[in-house]
Amino acid sequence: MKPDSRKTSAHPSAEGQRRLAYFSERRDQIVSTIRELVEIESPSDNKAAVDRIAEALAGRFSQLGGKVRVHQAKAFGNHLQVDFPAQSTAKPVLLLGHYDTVYPLGTLAAMPCRAADGTLTGPGVLDMKSGIALMLHTLAALQDWHKEDWHKEDGHKEDWHGALPRPVTVLLVSDEEVGSESSQAITESLAKKAAAVLVLEPSYGRPGAVKTARKGVGEYLVKVTGKASHAGLDFQKGVNAILELARQIERISSFTELKKGLTVNVGVVTGGLRTNVVPADAAAEVDVRIAHMKDAAGIDKKMRSLRPFNRKCKIAITGRITRPPMERSAGVAALYTKAAAIARDLGWKLGEAAVGGGSDGNFTAALGIPTLDGLGGVGEGAHAPHEHILISELPRRAALLAGLIEAI
Ligand SMILES: [Zn+2]
Repeated sequence: MKPDSRKTSAHPSAEGQRRLAYFSERRDQIVSTIRELVEIESPSDNKAAVDRIAEALAGRFSQLGGKVRVHQAKAFGNHLQVDFPAQSTAKPVLLLGHYDTVYPLGTLAAMPCRAADGTLTGPGVLDMKSGIALMLHTLAALQDWHKEDWHKEDGHKEDWHGALPRPVTVLLVSDEEVGSESSQAITESLAKKAAAVLVLEPSYGRPGAVKTARKGVGEYLVKVTGKASHAGLDFQKGVNAILELARQIERISSFTELKKGLTVNVGVVTGGLRTNVVPADAAAEVDVRIAHMKDAAGIDKKMRSLRPFNRKCKIAITGRITRPPMERSAGVAALYTKAAAIARDLGWKLGEAAVGGGSDGNFTAALGIPTLDGLGGVGEGAHAPHEHILISELPRRAALLAGLIEAI
């Protein structure tokens, strides 16, 4: 589909209408794929469970004619790469996502996958099993629409699988919700070969905006060691690690610079044994967010240069910036412009959003590969008991993804 960038009306073009109708007719199939995926629970920390969903998806993608490659991971679930060749020699588009969720095994019992009032609820339904279902159904649709060209050009009557307008690589990882330690290198190496990266993470808010900027993320652990003593008998012999940590927390919190989009949050604090003991140990877990890569080194240095206020205390800092920010580069902006034109052709105005949360799109954008995120489901409550998607939004999300794969 060639979107008409001059088009401003809220009415879809004839081709846009045809595509929306195509996916609307298949809406129930998309919903049942999502349900199938949600009902295979896949918490990041349970390798056997995550491997099960990887296997189910390998089956689904190979039914579409994709060449499946499983990247074995030891401490995490396996990662799934699927390559779809095409006659075109263009660089592939990388469709990126993850199948791990934050929900422990057994969550389904209390939070079943249920359709009601136009929504579909369930663990991971928004983040991001609906995004994976969109990949499957969009690729199937593109094969369906382009099989005619394939026949004409090559005379392959017997098998039109793989008849995509351009090569596509799918990468689904198993450890996104826990930092992508074991998949980062795979994501980066596939991104380097791609023309662009489309991330099927949830969209933003009810209108379903795509994400053109994400903050980078850092995690630090600040450990304070003091000296234990009896709070009644030997109070003065003790060195209170909690008191020292409290002062450090004030200092750490002062590193926030809202204007730069730089925030520092002390999120978890531990320390002490009982009230009648001067505490020897205390620790704080700190979350750092940066909007700009140029701020990474500065905040890292500040965290590492924390020194004890009370010299009798010891302080140890570990951690680093784990995800670079996804900045709205020219390449990202150009992708958004394309997406907005495709959406216009489908009769809607696609918004864009800058968000604080990171995804694997941060890695690919930081390499300079044009990346558009938030192309997945529309809904609310990611990581929460009310997590859900809007079923009515599925057809146009699929049509948007299809248009982007063609247009890039
Ligand atoms: Zn996610």
